[in-house]
Amino acid sequence: MSVPERIPAAVYRRQGRVEVEQRDLPPAGDRQVVVEVDYCGVCGSDLHLIVEGWGHPGDVLGHEWSGTVVAVGPGVEDMAPGDAVLGGPEPKCGTCRPCREGRPSQCESQDRMTGHFDGAFATHVVRDRAEVLHVPAGLDRRAAALAEPLAVALHAITRADVRDGDDAIVFGAGPIGALIAATLVARGHRVTVVEPAPARQELARRLGVEAVVEPGALPTFDMSQVDVLAEHPFHVAFESSGRRAAMESAFFQLRRGGRLVLVGTGIDPPRFDPNRTIVLELTVSGAFVYDQGGFDRALELLASGALPVDVLIDDTEYGLDGVATAAELLARGEHAGKVMIRPNGTH
Ligand SMILES: [Zn+2]
Ligand SMILES: [Zn+2]
Repeated sequence: MSVPERIPAAVYRRQGRVEVEQRDLPPAGDRQVVVEVDYCGVCGSDLHLIVEGWGHPGDVLGHEWSGTVVAVGPGVEDMAPGDAVLGGPEPKCGTCRPCREGRPSQCESQDRMTGHFDGAFATHVVRDRAEVLHVPAGLDRRAAALAEPLAVALHAITRADVRDGDDAIVFGAGPIGALIAATLVARGHRVTVVEPAPARQELARRLGVEAVVEPGALPTFDMSQVDVLAEHPFHVAFESSGRRAAMESAFFQLRRGGRLVLVGTGIDPPRFDPNRTIVLELTVSGAFVYDQGGFDRALELLASGALPVDVLIDDTEYGLDGVATAAELLARGEHAGKVMIRPNGTH
């Protein structure tokens, strides 16, 4: 397999602007592998960076990738050219208290935001062997590229302490909300999705959820109605849109002892009624990245065939020159499912 010395990469320039340029591809160093990228999903975090302009000029984004090994460096014995692989979890210190307690998302030695700056919106990536996983037999690379966002969705479900028979309401049917909803449907829960965008409402229906509702159709309560419940209250609520109104609405849909997990970041802070929290013993928590072993469980779930991957992944694929357009259309809710970039074209 040939390994080029220069490769095209989609480089973030400024808000809304991503340009393809040639970059050097270093050879595989000690315990490193070079991977030709087959698929790289556009993540909600990429939208913040590209569409909202939080990115650093010069960065190459893209962390939800799968591909094919084309070269291995010295010391790599369990991976070879031709192997189907995907990007694994970010390495953590493994020694701090949260790491030892199985909560790598709260590793105390994180000194930077998550995300590679030499990301996979490029034809090739060079990675430490320890950061790369094999695609399990029977799973294709396209579905495997969903492992990272699915691990994020599974972590949110863990944080909500979902129990058998719980009814769930999911705010936002973007990629993370859709993966949460699909997983809960596969586990036999009744799921309601709240979503304003028609394309995403349609996607939610195709996932087999119980109901799809408009945000404005849900009840709210004032402070004098502290123990008045919605007509159809939920055990668990997930908020994946990052919008203040959705966070506040999600809170009002909880039944007694209900749990709300925030998984979509936002800049407008919500207000939650403390008395309702106390009287109904509600829990509001957050979920960041993934559980220990989250990728393994995500890959297992994908390989089981229990999730409708062809619904969850959008039909439209883009090349490297389409990264900014894909991000823009995703941010507007015009693409319903996960959008895949194919840096090496559709072969
Ligand atoms: Zn992601
Ligand atoms: Zn740690």
